[in-house]
Amino acid sequence: MKQFSDKLRSYAELLLRKGVNLQPGQRLFVRKAPVEQAEFVRILSETAYRMGARHVKLFWADDRITRTRFELAPEDSFSEYPTHQTDALVEGARRGDAFISITGADPSLLDGIESRRVTEAVRAENHAMNEFRSYSMRNAVNWLVAAVPTSGWARTVFPRLAAKNAVERLWKQIFHLCRLDLDDPIEAWEQHAAGIARRTRHLNAKQYRELHYSAPGTDLTVSLPERHEWHGVGSRTPSGIVFIPNIPTEEVFTLPHCRHVSGTVAATRPLAISGRTIDEFQLRFEHGRVVEISARVGEDCLRETIDTDPGAARLGEVALVPDSSPISRSGLLFHNTLFDENASCHLALGRAYRFCLQDGEHLSSDAFFERGGNSSMVHYDFMIGSNQLDIDGVTADGSSESVFRSGEWAF
Ligand code: ZN
Ligand code: ZN
Repeated sequence: MKQFSDKLRSYAELLLRKGVNLQPGQRLFVRKAPVEQAEFVRILSETAYRMGARHVKLFWADDRITRTRFELAPEDSFSEYPTHQTDALVEGARRGDAFISITGADPSLLDGIESRRVTEAVRAENHAMNEFRSYSMRNAVNWLVAAVPTSGWARTVFPRLAAKNAVERLWKQIFHLCRLDLDDPIEAWEQHAAGIARRTRHLNAKQYRELHYSAPGTDLTVSLPERHEWHGVGSRTPSGIVFIPNIPTEEVFTLPHCRHVSGTVAATRPLAISGRTIDEFQLRFEHGRVVEISARVGEDCLRETIDTDPGAARLGEVALVPDSSPISRSGLLFHNTLFDENASCHLALGRAYRFCLQDGEHLSSDAFFERGGNSSMVHYDFMIGSNQLDIDGVTADGSSESVFRSGEWAF
């Protein structure tokens, strides 16, 4: 068995080679690098320099310092966001740099903090990040979201373990779910990608006009815009860099028509938004807009999220993931979107990916909206998959075909 430090090294290699696909001479930005896992960040940086990185720029994050800020900083400070960071990101995007964003903060970090503070801070961050995101949402740059455990996150996933053991267990899970315990992880990723590409081609050839979802608490019809494109695993920048924006990833996804969604959908897993949890919730849509909300946990937070801007009340993503995915099979609830969304079919409230429409990258915002694409400052995935979910695809001539049965691919 490989040593832990070897595993960290192969994880760094996977993220840099298959994930962001760092090119020799590129600069690399690493956002939200956790202070707690400085050792991994050092390995990641070293690997990047060995691959020919010109400069590795780190933006560090620390859960305890974040919490302290929310407890002690003055009320009127939460609308501020460090623009030197966002300016640097935008400058880097213009220059064609590579970007890794690390996820793994304690999902309940901000429990008990006055919600006004959190809402303001989230709004400020979304606003400040908007310009940079317009690059990543178009795949104008090679980017990646990947996870590194913090003790707060690990203890949420494994509440019965002491912090140190929980972090070890979570690393082990991440290695497993990223296929790093196989002999040749890079080869394993290539096979996995080929399987997803097959599904994607099938769905693209079908060009379903509509998807119909049914499950307990769910009876939802989602129209798909004309000339939508399904995507999975591989993305490509205009300069031809092929990258995988999320590791791990199991999903095949496209965009819905943001004005033609109707019916009710029930979430099947909790949704964590900026350190707060929303659970057991249901949304009802009319003409693409959320018109009714109910949640057993975090209803206020859900309402605030949906009120962020007009696009936050509409859908921007439909994603298909079989219930037998490795993440789902792990039986764990990660309280982290990167993992939980890859365990389950999901939808997202908020902005749509431009590249999910043919020629979408070149459309003006108005033209994108006209063709059914949603725009918003936010993008929140929520899970709706289970072994009771059936999905039918309606073709152009109105006939209905099975896409999912009992949570699994039906073709
Ligand atoms: Zn997704
Ligand atoms: Zn998403």
